[in-house]
Amino acid sequence: MTVKFRPRPARPTATARPDPRVKALMTWFSRHRRPLPWRRHPTPYRIWVAEVLLQQTRVAQAAPYFERFVRRFPNVSALARASEEQVLKAWEGAGYYARARHLHQAARQIQRERAGELPHQSGELRQLPGVGPYIAAAVASLAFHEPIVALDANGFRVLARWTLERRDLHRAAAQNRLRRWAMDRLPARRSAEFNEGLMELGETICLPLRPECTRCPVAGQCRARQELPDPGALPTRRPPRAKPQVVAAVVAVNRGGRWLVLRRPSTGLLGGLWEFPGGKVAPRERPVAAAARELREETGLTTGMLEELGVVRHEYSHFRVALHLFRTRSARGRVRVRGRRHRWVGFAELRRLPLPRATLKMLPPLERAGKRDRASRDSGSRRGRTGA
Ligand code: SF4
Repeated sequence: MTVKFRPRPARPTATARPDPRVKALMTWFSRHRRPLPWRRHPTPYRIWVAEVLLQQTRVAQAAPYFERFVRRFPNVSALARASEEQVLKAWEGAGYYARARHLHQAARQIQRERAGELPHQSGELRQLPGVGPYIAAAVASLAFHEPIVALDANGFRVLARWTLERRDLHRAAAQNRLRRWAMDRLPARRSAEFNEGLMELGETICLPLRPECTRCPVAGQCRARQELPDPGALPTRRPPRAKPQVVAAVVAVNRGGRWLVLRRPSTGLLGGLWEFPGGKVAPRERPVAAAARELREETGLTTGMLEELGVVRHEYSHFRVALHLFRTRSARGRVRVRGRRHRWVGFAELRRLPLPRATLKMLPPLERAGKRDRASRDSGSRRGRTGA
């Protein structure tokens, strides 16, 4: 689910109108429901964690992160007892780390105020940190069968095609119309199957660009299929924006076998994760000069020899970054870091810290460089002995 909509949940009217599309969807879903990890032992806690994860992560990518997270923290009280660093480590690689911080804060609130039991109503769920209208509606319907519509990007897309909604789905008017349409047809006691079925159809058959209409259970009643030459033309899309490219320089400073890492501020991009010092390369600045400048500005250290180990590339949701990675053993001075924590850590400890994915990508070149150093030291000492 890469596109995040913010639907305003609404309650269904007392008598839902029977609709052949809804009926076909429910029958299909009861037969083709995938055995996803969060559908095994579906406790409210597991449903909540899965919905948070799926807000920005596709199903196939989310599954291993979900398994790792719930293995580490199997319930609200285990999550509430953990430190923020442990939670971020368990979330490492899934991205959008504010989600993990909010989950943690919400778990502490639930443990403190409700002895670990999640609220049942969408209105109460929305009072928790990080729980917006969509997650509240999804958890309330999937875990507690509240008769409420929960539409994510998949659900909106499917409904837009069923009903030939031609407006941009980012617009509130289009979303409200589709939500009302669904609300009027929501089977009162089966909101969970309806919401999950729509998402499932969008994830597996009614795909964004090439819907597989020949496999679709509602093809006979879908207006896009019946009336358009290409049902995939809906919903109307905005032209994609090119992602800006950022060039940065990063310095891995080593002293006595330990590496200097800094903790990012708790809020904002990659909040609370650990990284090597570094920053953006200014226009017309050479990466090596930027590395020395950033190290001095961030830590107060001055550097001697900087060895470039290569360029690490990474893509975030809104930009791409090319990181020139440098290594030094000859940085001078005492570390002075304002408003951030720092540590000197060996490789084993470094791997135990929550790290951004871009930093994780820097570990193999650093390890290879370390191996090269050891090999050249060994061959040097062997040559020395041979010569003697
Ligand atoms: S018929 Fe095609 S466009 Fe319509 S819901 Fe099914 S897959 Fe989507």
